[in-house]
Amino acid sequence: MSTTRVAVVTGSNKGIGLAIVRALCKQFQGDVYITARNVGRGQEAVASLASEGLKAMFHQLDIDDLNSITTAAAFFKEKYGGVDVLINNAGIAFGVADSTPFAVQAEVTLKTNFFATRDMLTQFLPIIKAGGRVVNVSSFVGARTLNQCSPALQQRFRSEDIPEEELVELMQEFVNKAKKGEHTQAGWPDTAYGVSKTGLTTLSMILARHLSKERPNDGILLNAGCPGWVRTDMAGSNATRSPEEGAANLVYLALLPPGATEPHGKFVSDKEVQPW
Ligand code: NDP
Repeated sequence: MSTTRVAVVTGSNKGIGLAIVRALCKQFQGDVYITARNVGRGQEAVASLASEGLKAMFHQLDIDDLNSITTAAAFFKEKYGGVDVLINNAGIAFGVADSTPFAVQAEVTLKTNFFATRDMLTQFLPIIKAGGRVVNVSSFVGARTLNQCSPALQQRFRSEDIPEEELVELMQEFVNKAKKGEHTQAGWPDTAYGVSKTGLTTLSMILARHLSKERPNDGILLNAGCPGWVRTDMAGSNATRSPEEGAANLVYLALLPPGATEPHGKFVSDKEVQPW
């Protein structure tokens, strides 16, 4: 087994994920993995970094596929004894002009951005090494959406002791209500992407509390981070930041120095902890 340190970035064949890998190749002491659901797109990304003189590695990883997640986790466990840095960047969004029914948008968006990202965390947290850093790529949209939820929902998402199971049930309830066209009556805003990121930020806070309780001496820091509004296929060309600028806050969270004790369990934008 190698003692080399290792960083893994999901959905990193393009966009912000690829910019994170580019930065880690320059700044992280160890192997950096591009992961992608599609092997061809992943290998093209490796080749594009190679043409810049940067050496990234590749492993297939479709976060919607539990078998793909467990295969990747087993690979990193066997080859490196675990993972030092995990960035859960993979995500999807329907365009504003997309005519897909809201019920479908809700199910599909929550599936990847919340449920599949949670599957990643469930499978990978046990193999995050002492001193590890975990970054969940969330969004300012999730914070805005929190404030548009009913007071009762806001209270749950802000609760210091909401159980993970309750959060999962709430996210499932949003999808179920959306399918019946009843989500707004039930206190949910009309944004599947926003709710998925509200859920992901809340999940990050819950899992950070678990780590502090269950592995108090391991010094692992887990946070949700926002890249800002970034020019990618997802956000389009009018966005204000380049992928490199968007990656900066996430790379900062991934490279919090050894011995740091904070931030942990926070929502962080532009290297600053944000109110929740
Ligand atoms: P892109 O659409 O450019 O890239 C998304 C990446 O995620 C692609 O590599 C895509 O792979 C991958 N992906 C999607 N689904 C899966 C899956 N099931 N398994 C593995 N990989 C998957 O988007 P961005 O780079 O803009 O977004 C990256 C993250 O940043 C997302 O979580 C997004 O929500 C978040 N974010 C983006 C903002 C922005 O302004 N751009 C603002 C705030 C947050 P493929 O190429 O195969 O589709």
